[in-house]
Amino acid sequence: METIRTVEWMKQVSRKARAEGRLLGFVPTMGALHAGHVSLVRAAQRDCSPVAVSIFVNPKQFGPGEDFARYPRSFEADSALLQSLGVEYLFAPEAAEMYPPGFSSHVDVDGLASRLEGRTRPGHFRGVATVVLKLLEIVDPWRAYFGRKDAQQSRIIEQLVRDFHLDAQIEVCPIVREEDGLALSSRNAYLSAEDRRAATVLYRALGAARQAAGRGERNVARLVAAMREVIAKEPRAAADYVEVVRAETFEPAAMLRGECYALLAVFFGATRLLDNMLIVEENGEFRCEL
Ligand code: AMP
Repeated sequence: METIRTVEWMKQVSRKARAEGRLLGFVPTMGALHAGHVSLVRAAQRDCSPVAVSIFVNPKQFGPGEDFARYPRSFEADSALLQSLGVEYLFAPEAAEMYPPGFSSHVDVDGLASRLEGRTRPGHFRGVATVVLKLLEIVDPWRAYFGRKDAQQSRIIEQLVRDFHLDAQIEVCPIVREEDGLALSSRNAYLSAEDRRAATVLYRALGAARQAAGRGERNVARLVAAMREVIAKEPRAAADYVEVVRAETFEPAAMLRGECYALLAVFFGATRLLDNMLIVEENGEFRCEL
């Protein structure tokens, strides 16, 4: 595996792969790699060769008072893991390489980026969209892989690619979970043992919505009430938002129809965890993907 520290070098590698007629796959990450990231690498390896993974803790997507300084960093272990998976390129630029003095352009994805995560974390998606546009320009992959764990982020990136006529295909992969249902996240490392046990409440709340939808419940207010009831029973958990939205616009839905997401953000002390469930209407019934 080649570790690439500069933008120019990454561009050269990408140009060479393209000139050789190879299909470059790309998995952007912030490191602290876990099985969720590994699933993206494996998906990329199924479709593409070579595969590039980036590790970049993007300062621009953290608000003041958020966890940028203490975000888990484990570069040596991450690098060894990617090497063992057979990844060809690790793109790991310093912040000054990505944002040299004088850097002044940003990307705002209107509408989509203002709701849910965008409401709680103003400026977050501006930072995400800006760094992802830069990464897609630099790496110039054939296909890039993202996790449905961050469903709103994935939708915003699809919109970004559409709006800027980027060539990269965007692939959104399923959520990888622990055995007890907790979605893997680098931020799970912040949880105390008690909060880690309590954190299964996200999965259990989504499960309650799945059950209700399975019984034919289409009324979103009642689905949200079912999820809130589960969360309220867990004293360590404090809901930030519990919503069901249309998958295309992330606007609130009143009734289940077409494709929707049930989306949760829940606090355990200072740690905020996300989870979601995709709800797809098929022949008048609802299939739920957790
Ligand atoms: P991050 O390093 O947290 O920025 O995540 C990098 C990529 O991995 C993003 O596209 C995430 O959506 C994805 N990801 C994170 N956790 C999971 C998970 N549990 N299952 C699937 N993908 C994930």
